[in-house]
Amino acid sequence: MVVKPVIPQRILDLQPYKPGKPIEEVERELGLGDSIKLASNENALGPSAAVISALREAAEGVHRYPDGGAFELTSRLAARLSVDGRRIVFGNGSNELIELLVRMFAEEGSEVVMSEDAFLIYSLVSQAAGATPVRVKAREFRHDVAAMGDAVGEKTRLVFLANPNNPTGTIFERDAWEAFLARVPHDVVVVVDEAYCEYVEHPEYPDALDYIDRHPGLVVLRTFSKVYGLAGLRLGYGVGSVEIMEAMSRLRQPFNVNLLAQVAAIAALDDEDYLEAGRALAREGRRCFAEAFERLGLDYVPSQANFMLVEVGDGAAVTDALMRRGVIVRPMGAYGFPSMIRVTFGTPEENERFVDALSAVMGER
Ligand SMILES: *Cc1c(COP(=O)(O)O)cnc(C)c1O
Repeated sequence: MVVKPVIPQRILDLQPYKPGKPIEEVERELGLGDSIKLASNENALGPSAAVISALREAAEGVHRYPDGGAFELTSRLAARLSVDGRRIVFGNGSNELIELLVRMFAEEGSEVVMSEDAFLIYSLVSQAAGATPVRVKAREFRHDVAAMGDAVGEKTRLVFLANPNNPTGTIFERDAWEAFLARVPHDVVVVVDEAYCEYVEHPEYPDALDYIDRHPGLVVLRTFSKVYGLAGLRLGYGVGSVEIMEAMSRLRQPFNVNLLAQVAAIAALDDEDYLEAGRALAREGRRCFAEAFERLGLDYVPSQANFMLVEVGDGAAVTDALMRRGVIVRPMGAYGFPSMIRVTFGTPEENERFVDALSAVMGER
């Protein structure tokens, strides 16, 4: 008999997260050049000039460990958000913070409440920790926040809400949020993932940061990966009570945020023009895609973020056909939307290329 380590069943059961395909991989596999990627909700503008110049300068110092406490970045961000710096913790992407929160609160046998159409990482990480993801039915591509409140029970340790949600691009509104927050027990941790908050233009959008003192377990997650254009450097942050944030700092690796990420984020925070240009690009993308989808007779989900879900019949086949035309999008089968694709807004040229490719592909079908 061969004796070997036993991999726990809950780990063997994990469905690996499938990220958007990197351009290089698609081009290698299909022998293409000149592909575009609209698959991971990145900022199509590329990094800001201020960030590039700060990174060049900082490159001289990468033989040193970074500041494990991210002192400078913390004080800049604290001032920007008007919160006590002890209430901020940084992560290697906000994905790391999702994982730390689950490790800290969701012990084996507990429940983690989320919407069934939410970002897949919440259920993946909960399952890996031995907790049970409770996936609450969504309504017309939106979190059913009231039903999520109903789903909170004795065993619930954490609730994840994404606002706007990925992959739907939808938000939940102030009324529903306030009613939810008023009834969630104070020993349950409520995580609001606001990865796309900078793009929202809806007047009824509740910024969870405004509620940070109303519930002791409220944690708001944000990221530099989207409108700030730093996905490749991996930097996100959480804001919550001093107690929870200090505990997360104890749990994290001492140098979880690298030196270049810290330097780039400081430069990015001050670059208002770049942020505004990113928002303008999303506004233009929304307009352009809505017009194209209507012209093609395709149903889509109106979005408050920098991407859109659209109904194409066979999402996997259309993704494949678009890829052969050098346009990388995301099929949505893993999210339970096999007839849809998710497309990130690109530059006007990229949007046009996508719309032309989609028109051709849908015409052939
Ligand atoms: C992109 C995204 C994030 C950010 O992830 P990072 O680890 O910060 O790159 C978090 N939540 C959602 C819903 C996202 O779509």
